[in-house]
Formats: sequence, C-alpha cells, structure tokens
Amino acid sequence: SNRMMLGPLVGSIDQGTSSTRFLVFNAKTSELLSHHQVEIVQKFPKEGWVEQDPKEILNSVHECVEKTCEKLQQLNIDITNIKAIGVSNQRETTVVWDKTTGEPLYNAIVWLDLRTQATVDRLLKKIPGKNKSFFKFRTGLPLSTYFSAVKLRWLLDNVEEIKQAVGDGRAMFGTIDSWLIWSLTGGKNGGVHCTDVTNASRTMLFNIHSLEWDPELCQFFDIPMEILPKVRSSSEIYGLMKSGALTGVPISGCLGDQSAALVGQMCFQDGQAKNTYGTGCFLLCNTGQKSVFSEHGLLTTIAYKLGRDKPVCYALEGSVAIAGAVVRWLRDNLGILKTSQEVEKLAAEVGTSYGCYFVPAFSGLYAPYWEPSARGIICGLTQFTNKNHIAFAALEAVCFQTRELLDAINKDCGVPLNQLQVDGGMTNNKVLMQLQSDILCIPVVKPSMPETTALGAAMAAGAAEGVGIWSLNPGDLTAVTCERFEPQINPEESEFRFARWKKAVMKSMDWVT
Ligand code: ADP
Repeated sequence: SNRMMLGPLVGSIDQGTSSTRFLVFNAKTSELLSHHQVEIVQKFPKEGWVEQDPKEILNSVHECVEKTCEKLQQLNIDITNIKAIGVSNQRETTVVWDKTTGEPLYNAIVWLDLRTQATVDRLLKKIPGKNKSFFKFRTGLPLSTYFSAVKLRWLLDNVEEIKQAVGDGRAMFGTIDSWLIWSLTGGKNGGVHCTDVTNASRTMLFNIHSLEWDPELCQFFDIPMEILPKVRSSSEIYGLMKSGALTGVPISGCLGDQSAALVGQMCFQDGQAKNTYGTGCFLLCNTGQKSVFSEHGLLTTIAYKLGRDKPVCYALEGSVAIAGAVVRWLRDNLGILKTSQEVEKLAAEVGTSYGCYFVPAFSGLYAPYWEPSARGIICGLTQFTNKNHIAFAALEAVCFQTRELLDAINKDCGVPLNQLQVDGGMTNNKVLMQLQSDILCIPVVKPSMPETTALGAAMAAGAAEGVGIWSLNPGDLTAVTCERFEPQINPEESEFRFARWKKAVMKSMDWVT
C-alpha cells in the first residue's frame, strides 16, 4: 500500500511574524504532504510598539500540529511515520516567562518594535564615541532596537512582575524558538530551556566566534545570565514532544527563519544567497566557515551549525524591516485592498507608479542605512496619481530595497551574484517577481515548492544524530524545480528609477529628531 512506500516523515513548525504553520515532509523525496496555517494577531498598543501573545503563539502551534495530523489521517497516512520535528521561527522577538507557572510575564516584544529607542540612546552614551558598531566584531550586529538584548533590557526596567520573577529566580528569557521548545517539551514539568546558535546570534548577547553567551555583553546590557537558555547546535535532539498527537516525537532541528530558508534553498556553498519576502525582506549570503564583516551596512550572522560536531557557517545578511508589511498596511490602514493578493491586480492594471515613490520606513530604515529616525513617505504625487500607482510604488519599494541589499552584498563579497534565489509569502506575486528582475537586471529564481523555511528546519531535524533519516550530502539532495523571471526592461530605465528611489530615501531621513 501507499503507507508502506512512504518511509519516514518529518514535521516542521514555522512560526513567522504573520502566521504559524505546521508542515509535514517526506524525508526521502522532500515532498510536502500536508500542512495547516493559522494567522497571528499583531497588537500595536502605542505608536511604534508591536506585540504578540506568547500563549496565542503556542496555541497556534498546537492547533496547526493537530489539524495537520487530522489531514494526514484523512489522506490515509500513518502519523507514526513522523520521526522528528524541526522548529523555525521569527527571530529576535523576545519573551520572558515564569518557569514555575509556565505563564508568560508580558507579551512578546516583536522584532519590529521601536519602544527601545530611548534604551538604545542611553546605552550608546556608555560606548566610546557613541559608536553603534562598537560590538560589531563580537556580535556581527550594530546596537539597534532590532535585537533581543535591548528588548530584554526594556522588560527588566519596565515590568514589575519580571523584576520580581528575576529576583526570585523564577524568570526565563527566550526568543520564540526557546519559548516553544520549552513549552512543547514539558514546560513547567521539566521543559528544556535551550536555543540554537542562529537564534542566539540575533540577541546581541552572543559571541559569534566563541559560540557562547558573552559575559561582558551581559554586563553591558545588565542581563542576569541565569535567565538565558542553553545554546545548542541547529541539528540535535533537544527533547521530546510531551503532549498532543505527536507525543514522544523528538524535536531535533532549530533554525531562525532566515537561516532555515538558506538551508531549505540548499545554499550550502560559499557565495550562495537567497532573499526571503515575508513581513520584512532578508537577503542572506553564505560565507562558509569564515565570518565576513561588512563595510556596507550588512550584518554578520550565523547561517547554521548542523550538528554538535559540525562546523559553524556564517552569512552576510541584508535586512529590510518592511516588505509584505507594506501590503498589509495598504489593506488594513488604507483599506485599498481586501486581501494582500489583490495588490498584484491593482499594480498590473497600471504597470507603472507614474513617478510615485513610496519609502515604507515605518520602523526607521534597516540595511544598509540603519537609520532609526527615518519615517515613511510617498512622494512624486500628482493630480493623476491613484491607488493603483500607490500599490505599484509599494511593490517597487520592496524591489528597490532588495536592490540596495544586493549592491551591498556584491560590494562586500567582490563577486556579483548573477541570479537571485527567492522565497516567502510575497513571491506568489508574479508582478512583484518580474519587477524585481527588472530592477536588479539579473534573473530571479523561485523554487516551485515555496515553503523553503519549513523545509530547512525539517532537513535539520531529519539529519540530527540519533534521527538520521535525512541526508544532507550534496549528492543526495533532490534538485529543486524552479520558475525563472528574466529582466525585461533596459538597464538605463532601471538605473533611472533606482536613482529616483534613492532620492526619495534621502527625503525620508531625519524625520524624528
Ligand atoms: P512571515 O514569514 O513574515 O510571517 P510570509 O512569508 O508568510 O511572512 O508572508 C506574508 C506577508 O506577505 C504578509 O505581509 C502579506 O501582506 C504579504 N503577501 C502575501 N501574499 C502576497 C501577495 N500575493 N502579494 C503581495 N504581498 C503578499
């Protein structure tokens, strides 16, 4: 029967900023068998604040696991074939919980949140020359609202319950991966408090060379080290599922979402890169076992360490805060779309922004500018401009921001990329993909199975020691079938529009003083 031929399966939790998914893959063929997805509520309690409920996130994972298992059973697939589970997650988002009750002590502060700007300014004063790149060699990161350390500092300063819990030795800190793994492996009844090197590398408390929490950084941010999770590799058995349909299955893979996408796109060679278009946009280029430091505003981050005894690999990363989020803003704040998908039709109807440029610097600007005082602008408006042009300009903004990342990566690496591998929710938008190729003047290549983040975490889980059902040897990796978008406009036209974009970016700067 089909059941016998299926072989081992791997489940993958993909906890993103906008939604949670659980997906099940065939370990031998990488085929996606079934999945379930639940949207996550984002709360904006004050201007610049972005929060999520950690319990809602955890419940969404349980719901996705249960619903996917039901779907598999309807397909007559035996769920006991699921031999391992991987986790990939939105990075930097910060949770503190009480280990005696298992309850979060505050909402999760989401990576996009800007409330820590005053904390960042205060910390900068402690640094010689107020140099925001002071810890860059150790952490790969500039001091910014983006990373977990300042979010945790804010929680310790501002939430009474958290201060008390730390004093009583009841507090645990974690990024979303830690919160989920701890909860799923038993929570207050013996849950495993851990994270992986990729997630740890986004906290700004982690030394990316020694692969340990850095006592000096913890001192600088005044973070008690006993609340930090244990740092493990991205592929090893952390613990077993303690409840639900998959009770007893090992959780054996953990990667921050952008690292997971890099693995899922099979970018294992030095110089291979991928760009993921979700809420934000993240271009990662594998630099192998050497950590490369950017001269052009990119981060140095851990790509993966696929096993306790395996080498660590690094990546250069270009991060853009607002990509899909601008489409969501057109939908939720302006109401010119009913669904995110509709933006494609609106943009296609005009095929041009008619000279309108939209810089969605809602959270300041990340790479390559790292400018917290920028704010969004729409410029070049005329009597003629309508919602279609604004929709087009929003999509074009995503493409221009990616172009800035690609230019920076090309400068730092010396060898220009001759095509761009892409994935993420926005890549379903063909108008966007064509526009991206036009703006970059190189082909854009999209795998036909777009769930690369989930695939990467599944691969890490299936390859773990003691699981051993997924081979990561280059010869065993299944070739991915792709869709290609080739540049269709001339480079002069492309350069002209990109120059206008840069002019618009300059106008968005220094808005908040
Ligand atoms: P994340 O991993 O950050 O949760 P996803 O990869 O799931 O994000 O992508 C969701 C984002 O992509 C949302 O911000 C949504 O507005 C946007 N999006 C989804 N489909 C489309 C589309 N067809 N065109 C443009 N944007 C889209």
